[in-house]
Amino acid sequence: MSAPQVSKTEAEWRAELSAVEFHVLREAGTERPFSSSYEHDATEGVYRCRGCNAELFRSDTKFDAQCGWPAFYAPLAEDRVRYIEDVTLGMARTEVRCSACDSHLGHVFRGEGFSTPTDLRYCINGVALSLEPAQAPTAD
Ligand SMILES: [Zn+2]
Repeated sequence: MSAPQVSKTEAEWRAELSAVEFHVLREAGTERPFSSSYEHDATEGVYRCRGCNAELFRSDTKFDAQCGWPAFYAPLAEDRVRYIEDVTLGMARTEVRCSACDSHLGHVFRGEGFSTPTDLRYCINGVALSLEPAQAPTAD
């Protein structure tokens, strides 16, 4: 496996991130459910990694899973994320990380019956993302 393209020391991460961002991104933590304003945000745009600014998800693959976290059915491109089998908490889950900086983003779940093209739910912590709104059409 190739090394992440963005590599920072723990001190650098702590300086750049808030306490909750550090906990989620670098310690694979989970933000409180229903705490992210992104969960129901329908703004058109691209969601970037809070750790390294890589483009991770597009708003057009976002759907309302009513699960307490922002949910997407696909990443912006498969090479933007990497997957790690996670068996903590006694459950077999698939962790999703940013492939550029190896920060924890959330988990992906399959086969839950959502009417999306992939039947996948990327359950992503809002604090791991920053939304870059699409350019608004210019009014003449
Ligand atoms: Zn990243």
